Amino acid sequence: MPFFKESPACESCLMPFDKDPGTRESDRYCSLCFRDGKLCYEGSDLKEFQSAAYEGMLARGMNKYLAMFYAWMIRFAPRWKK
Ligand SMILES: [Zn+2]
Repeated sequence: MPFFKESPACESCLMPFDKDPGTRESDRYCSLCFRDGKLCYEGSDLKEFQSAAYEGMLARGMNKYLAMFYAWMIRFAPRWKK
């Protein structure tokens, strides 16, 4: 998936850093995944993280289908690669 390499993106949720709504603390993670010096979701359950990310996107007013797509894409993020 070469388009991941075009712009730096969060290693946990794949949000491109230029779309990050907050102030980023880490070089590897966006402001939603990494806050106050640690990962917000420290577990290793991809499905749980996906549904939390999905809810978060809806809360930020994203279109439901787009949010579903982005949540699905998370499986390709470096953090979740097996
Ligand atoms: Zn992220």
